[in-house]
Amino acid sequence: MPKLNASATVETLLDAHHAHWAKLRRDLHAHPELRFEEHRTADVVARELESLGYAVLRGLGGTGVVASLPGADPDRGIVLRADLDALPIQEANHFAHASCANGVMHACGHDGHTVMLLGAARVLKQLPQLPGTVHFVFQPGEEGGAGARRMIDDGLFERCPTEAVFGMHNWPGLPSGHFGLRTGPIMAAGSRFRITVTGKGAHAAQPHLGLDPIPLACSMVLQCQTIAARHKDPVDPAVVSVCMFRAGDTDNVIPDSVELRGTIRTLSSTLQQRLQRDIELMCQGLASAYGAQVEVTFFQYYPATINTPTETALCETVIRETFSSERLDNHIPSNMTSEDFGFMLEERPGAYVLIGNATPGAAARSLHHPKYDFNDDIIPVGVRYWVALAQHYFGAV
Ligand SMILES: [Zn+2]
Ligand SMILES: [Zn+2]
Repeated sequence: MPKLNASATVETLLDAHHAHWAKLRRDLHAHPELRFEEHRTADVVARELESLGYAVLRGLGGTGVVASLPGADPDRGIVLRADLDALPIQEANHFAHASCANGVMHACGHDGHTVMLLGAARVLKQLPQLPGTVHFVFQPGEEGGAGARRMIDDGLFERCPTEAVFGMHNWPGLPSGHFGLRTGPIMAAGSRFRITVTGKGAHAAQPHLGLDPIPLACSMVLQCQTIAARHKDPVDPAVVSVCMFRAGDTDNVIPDSVELRGTIRTLSSTLQQRLQRDIELMCQGLASAYGAQVEVTFFQYYPATINTPTETALCETVIRETFSSERLDNHIPSNMTSEDFGFMLEERPGAYVLIGNATPGAAARSLHHPKYDFNDDIIPVGVRYWVALAQHYFGAV
């Protein structure tokens, strides 16, 4: 592939390849795959990277794909990360590139993330060599699969020496072409819990012969709200939601047991652990007062996504200098959704930014909505951001 010299040529490349990227994005949208089943998607990514002259590493974390653009110093490197997977949602759009897979849909824009990173791999390859290596990381299983964690466990950072990690997610709440970020937690830590309350079943008309677990479980649900409201500093956000209450099969039998399930979201792992401890203590205390048994289990699925100050400041500079200050909101509020890029940020410093995806004049569909679609107009903006970030990081501007 021919090398280009002037940075002004980046814009030429963006214009020249926009139609190709939009076509590729629509192809991925039409063929969504669920977490760890992204075989076709990984094939498409690998084929595109190979056509650009990259050596491609496959299979990291299951279906992950990695390609590296070597820099002058082999010991220096950064990770730019995109996600590959779709969601178990039936698409409600009827345009030509709507999902061909029944019940599976790219409703979070990972098709767009994948293509923007492929675009960066193309453009950076045609620019003069950077002082350090850029690792393009396409991870599987972001939607509840902790694919980032799997790639790390498979030796991502041993194979790809990395000083810092960078991620990007489209955001329908921001105007297209704008960026949002913040230092510190940008997304929440998430854990799930299951509370199994065991009493003693009985005839509905003879509750004194049993031990009814339902009033006890109701108390636990209410106390969960108290834990979110009263067991922590009010300025430190937390959500405790009981989302499932399963008990009994009919109207004249007191059941033996009740199962509750829910989620805890916080902006720090420390608070996450404290709330878990308090929920466990509350459940044990209430069960003991009632003379019942309780089992509480937690499954920590994602840590908080915490942007480090130096790398966030760098991203701010990149956005201001490449686009404009008007297109940057550097104090966006933290979001209580979770994102597995937090695993990468636990291992390395870095920053996760939001790129506006709102289509002017169109109804803004939220992420995970059955009528959501990625806005192809922002592909060159995302590619430009990745390219400028790599150049700024290594001082090549
Ligand atoms: Zn999502
Ligand atoms: Zn997503």
